[in-house]
This record gives sequence, C-alpha cells and structure tokens, in this order.
Amino acid sequence: MIRDITYPCTWEATYQTTQGGVHVHDDKLTVTTPVLLWVKALDILLERMKTSNFDFSKLKSLSGTGQQHGSVYWKEGANQTLKNMSSDHSLHQIFESSFAVKGSPIWMDSSTTAECQQLEKSVGGPQKLADITGSRAYERFTGNQIAKINKKNPEDYKKTERISLVSSFVASLFLGDYAAIDYSDGSGMNLMDIHTHEWSQQCLDACAPDLKEKLGVPLPSHSILGPVSPYYVKRFGFNSECKVIAFTGDNPASLAGMRLHQGDIAVSLGTSDTAFLWIQDPKPTLEGHVFCNPVDSSAYMALICFKNGSLTREKVRDESASRSWDEFAKALKTTCPGNNGNLGFYFDVMEITPAVVGIHRFSAKNCRVSEFPNGVEVRAVIEGQMLAKRAYAEKLGFKVLKGTRVLATGGASSNPDILKVLADVFNAPVYTIDTANSACLGCAYRAKHGLHAASGQSFADTVKIAAAPKLAVNPTCEIDKVYGPMLARYLELEKLVRNDC
Ligand code: ADP
Repeated sequence: MIRDITYPCTWEATYQTTQGGVHVHDDKLTVTTPVLLWVKALDILLERMKTSNFDFSKLKSLSGTGQQHGSVYWKEGANQTLKNMSSDHSLHQIFESSFAVKGSPIWMDSSTTAECQQLEKSVGGPQKLADITGSRAYERFTGNQIAKINKKNPEDYKKTERISLVSSFVASLFLGDYAAIDYSDGSGMNLMDIHTHEWSQQCLDACAPDLKEKLGVPLPSHSILGPVSPYYVKRFGFNSECKVIAFTGDNPASLAGMRLHQGDIAVSLGTSDTAFLWIQDPKPTLEGHVFCNPVDSSAYMALICFKNGSLTREKVRDESASRSWDEFAKALKTTCPGNNGNLGFYFDVMEITPAVVGIHRFSAKNCRVSEFPNGVEVRAVIEGQMLAKRAYAEKLGFKVLKGTRVLATGGASSNPDILKVLADVFNAPVYTIDTANSACLGCAYRAKHGLHAASGQSFADTVKIAAAPKLAVNPTCEIDKVYGPMLARYLELEKLVRNDC
C-alpha cells in the first residue's frame, strides 16, 4: 500500500501538510500532490478574477496547461458529478469525493523503477519502447505510475472510472465532462504510439488492465473539446459559447509560447540547460524525449536536459576568468573558433545527456590533458556545451536547415560572446526571446489557434502579430568547416569518456 500520508478533512489543513505543494513520502521516492488542492486552486483563481472584475463574458475560447506526467484518478460516478455541477457550490465542495486516489503522482516521483523495467522488457527493450512512445521508460512517466497504482492499490485502480493527466483534468473541470488527453501531453506517458497518435496496446497491456477505456481517445492539441460548462456561465458570467480547447503539458505549452517555427531550436541557458526542438522526422534515442508537437499535429518536438549548465560555466569563470563575466567574454574573444583542437567535457555533477561525470580534456591530438591555459579552458567549456546540444539534437532527428533559428533564453543568453559560440556551432543565427511565463502565454495562443485551426489556419499565422524575437548574432562565414569536423570528433571522444566512466 502507498498510503503513508494522512489527509485532514479541510483543504487548509491538507495544504499545511505539504511542502512546496507536494508530499514526499517516507520512501523519499514517492511524490504526490493532494488532487483537491488543485481543485481549490482553481476556485481561488476564478474567485480572485471575479473580485477584480475580470470580464469572463468576453472570452471566446480558453485553454491551459498542467505539469507533465502527473495523473488524476476519477472515481466511478465522477462524470455524472462533472455533468451536474451546481453553481451554488465551489468546485472543491462539488468534487470532494470524486477521486479514487487522493494523492496524485507527479513528475517528481521516482518510485517506479520496477514498473519501468517491466514495461521495457515487455515491448522488447528500451530502444523499442522509445521507438514507439518517443522515450525509454522513465519513472515519472504516467504509464509506469498507473502500473504501480494497479499493483500496489488494485482496489483504487478498480474504482477508477477515468484517468486524466493534470492538463486534461483541469480541462475536464471547465468542460463539465471528461476531456480528452491531447497528443502532445499524451506522449509523456510511455503509452502512446507517437507515429499513429493512438494508445499502444502493447504498452497498455504491460501497465494495467482495461486501460484504454480509462484513458479515453487522445485528440490533436488544437481540438475544440466543447463549450464551457453552464456552471461557469452561471457562477462567473462566462459566455455560453466560450470554447474549451484541449489543454496540454507545461513543456509543450512553453514551445507554443516561444513560437518556435519548423526547423527552429530554443536553447535555455539557465541553472540547467534545456533544448526544445521542432522536429519533422523524429528518431527517438535513449537520451532525450520526443513528443508530438502541440501546434502542428504532423510534427514533433523534442526536449533535452543538460544538468551541467550555468553552475559549471560559473565554476570555470571563477577558476579561469577572475570571477568575472567580462574576463570570461574577453577569453572567448581572444581565442579562436575550434580552440586549436582543444576540446573538453565538463560534468561537475552526473550529467543527464550523456550520463557521464567528471572533467575530461583532450588536446588536438586526442590525448587526455589535465589542464588547459585559462583562455582555452573558457572556450572549451562553452564549445563543449554547445557541441553537446547540437550533437544530441541531431541524434533525435533535428537538422540545421536554411532558415533555422536558434532562440536563446535564460541567464547566460545575456552574454553576447556565449551566443556567438552558440551561433557558430549551429551555423545559424541566434535570436533572444523573453520566455517569462511562456507556458501561460502559449496557452493563450493555443486558445486562439484552436478557434481557427478547423478552417486551416496555422499556428504561425495565428501568432504572427506578436512581437518578433530579436536577432542577437549571426554565425561566422563558413564556420561549419570548423565545427562540422569538431562535432564528429566530439562524438568520438564522448565514446572514450563513457568507457572510462
Ligand atoms: P534559472 O534556470 O535558475 O531560472 P536563469 O535562467 O535565471 O536561471 O539563469 C541564471 C544564471 O545565469 C546564473 O546562474 C548565472 O550563472 C547566469 N548568468 C547571468 N549573467 C550571465 C552572463 N553575463 N554570462 C553568463 N552567464 C550569466
């Protein structure tokens, strides 16, 4: 059983038992959020908007986003409750006893290693699972979470009438009916065939019985699910014609908010570095994730996380550039692209992509060296980080095409000399974008696109009046002659590093 959390009877008291909105269980691996806190949060949000005289009647459509991978277990009869919501009560009161599982597993959960192994084994190995679903098995991915609930609490699973993702759960509250899971968030479950956009029966069977019925049919991310429930019309003054557009996950919503075009890559240079890619022809690998694209159902997006981002750059700045970003920039300016063949891997902590740790430096002759002169060290860390981004993006099917843009965001995107290396390694211009609240903005764009998608309007057309990203730097002419061969060398040396670790 996984019930080591007690649930007090008021939401205030329940909230007090959480930390940062979550329960970390005694095993330190299981992480859940009381589902009723999310319902209460929506009550609070809508009441506050009403109090500040937000004019709900002007809304033509709405959409939203939820943290990826988390899941909600609706109890038998909950759909009737959704369809008969009384506007005299708060959502929290209405849905108080509508859930078979009180604590929803969320993305921070890492307790399903056994279920992951079982799923990979049942489909023929991790690469086979990635080929079908876009990712090898991950503990937080919803299929493995469902498998654990079925195994540990079979009674709760049996009582479950419908399983939603956090995104489709909130959409259901607005719709007054079970809302479909959208293709994009659905591809973070290890259950959906990303090529056919249907549940993979093989994966469903490996996780739990009767799962197809409990998940419902997935739909394109721009789908109109229906009009908003009469509850919102009566209680908050929504227009009864206001349409609910499928909700999606936070990462896909961010991609929409950043307005990536076909062939673009967005690189976030923050505490960790993340790359978001637009991919036409995906090649799932054991590292990184391929999801269906939230703004174009015929395309894909991929997500790659690099743990050693700004903290690693800061460490090299402190040790080799007098603790100063200005000195760091000077070092980049006074060394040449390709670093005269010197190349390094800087993984202060165990990296995710690739799963390697340690600092590994190589000379032009591919010999290991224990240190580089200061300037060479600075360029090596930045070139190594940017080469890794291009290498792993290409492994997943990304191609630098004519017109490809690199959109940079995060703290280090304020450094033009770092952006110059990024532009040179990708041989593409770098633009800077403001991504504050990009997931929310993305949902506003998607809500508008959903209204017009049926008449053939593309997402790009819907958002074309929004401010364009700013060009920060162009790549150096013919720079691919330097970084093309260096990329191949990076991958060869990475094999050595992996073998040594
Ligand atoms: P988070 O991922 O935590 O949101 P941010 O995107 O805000 O992080 O980035 C913070 C990081 O930006 C800091 O750790 C710092 O190393 C880095 N940073 C700030 N200014 C510069 C600069 N001029 N050059 C390079 N890195 C910078």
